[in-house]
Amino acid sequence: MTKTIPDVVCPFCGTLCDDLEVVVSDDGKQLLEVYNACAIGAEKFLHSQAEDRLTRPRLAQEDGSWKEIGYEEAIEYTAQMLANSKKPLMYGWSSTNCEAQGVGSEIGEITGAVMDNTATVCHGTSLIAVQDIGIPHCTLGEVKNRADRVVFWGCNPAHAHPRHMSRYSIFPRGFFTGKGHKGRKVIVIDPRKTDTANVADVHLQIEQGRDYELLDALRVAFKGLPLPDVVAGIPKEQIYEAAEVLKSGRFVIIFFGMGVTQSLGKNHNIDEAIAVTRDLNEYTKAAIMPMRGHYNVTGSGAVWGWQFGFPFAVDLSRGFARYNPGETTSNDLLRRDEVDSVFVLGSDPGAHFPFSSVKKISELPSVCIDPHQTPTTAVCKLHVPVAFVGVEVGGCAYRMDNVPIETRKVVDAPEGMMTDEEFLEKVLGRIKEIKGE
Ligand code: SF4
Repeated sequence: MTKTIPDVVCPFCGTLCDDLEVVVSDDGKQLLEVYNACAIGAEKFLHSQAEDRLTRPRLAQEDGSWKEIGYEEAIEYTAQMLANSKKPLMYGWSSTNCEAQGVGSEIGEITGAVMDNTATVCHGTSLIAVQDIGIPHCTLGEVKNRADRVVFWGCNPAHAHPRHMSRYSIFPRGFFTGKGHKGRKVIVIDPRKTDTANVADVHLQIEQGRDYELLDALRVAFKGLPLPDVVAGIPKEQIYEAAEVLKSGRFVIIFFGMGVTQSLGKNHNIDEAIAVTRDLNEYTKAAIMPMRGHYNVTGSGAVWGWQFGFPFAVDLSRGFARYNPGETTSNDLLRRDEVDSVFVLGSDPGAHFPFSSVKKISELPSVCIDPHQTPTTAVCKLHVPVAFVGVEVGGCAYRMDNVPIETRKVVDAPEGMMTDEEFLEKVLGRIKEIKGE
């Protein structure tokens, strides 16, 4: 016998689709089928059933092998490492729930850690730009129901957020968008002819790293002022045309990704993209939204925003929160040898950081909390597998539009396995004992 669980939330990307159906065995131990998810979302659920999944912590040995240990020993190892470090780096936090992020923040405070999340290598520049000039924002529900002009700048949701276009941005029929795709004009700005560009009405094939110039040119074109013949590889006629398409819409939404946040100009590109949105509001209604990647990177920024006032790169080593991206960001700290241990949870810097940073992590005392075996677990001294958030334990996550959504438990974790939050609670308790607090 089986049972079907409706309205399940997908804990993979920032779209946080909340319409999945999951079929489990009657005893709640086996996950059998996943419906409505995209291929990567379905794989996230099904991977929890992998036969080679690790269910107990393991410690790296001198000879390169691993020794299985109990959770108690792993808690002691982690607590001792963090309590005895002068300045630990506590990185990741984007693939876990807000409850675990809250406990992690307390550990960071008590140990004088630097707390950083994956925004440090993706949308941190967007957060800096928002602090610079604010942001005209909206929800994905408003996009579905109102947006008739949709821009994807430096992002490729067809691959990175596969259901974004069908649930919210291009294809769905909403309250004021009854014609669905037919009623929308889609503009893609990308140096490559991506699969998202293939469904666009207009593809501006910009020269790599020239986003700032094109954004600036759009602002000029809105006002009908003269432009050079070609800007960022785009003929001026196309720029004027795109400007008119945007101005003539009833509701414009600009989605942007790492193609613009991490290319030349970085946060200044986003300053300018926000300024474009602001300018458009003189003609119509317009909003802008970052395409956040990990399913709860937005939540970690929100939790640290409440706790410390800053969304990433928070240095607590002086007993108060300091924030100075470029100085207090993970790769800068690792490059300058400024941290003496590394704790990673809910992220894979081994796959995303430069080689020099990964090498540094491999040389330092290090712990990685992750249900999977990853390039990061391969270089850390201790790997603690935990239950999958959104599959084996619920908890709060924030969608890319800052809407909090409660994820659901659909299946039991393997017997005796801890969750992120439980493990962190135990580590926190032990650190308090060590420090006599
Ligand atoms: S689009 Fe993202 S949240 Fe939705 S099912 Fe795919 S991976 Fe999951």
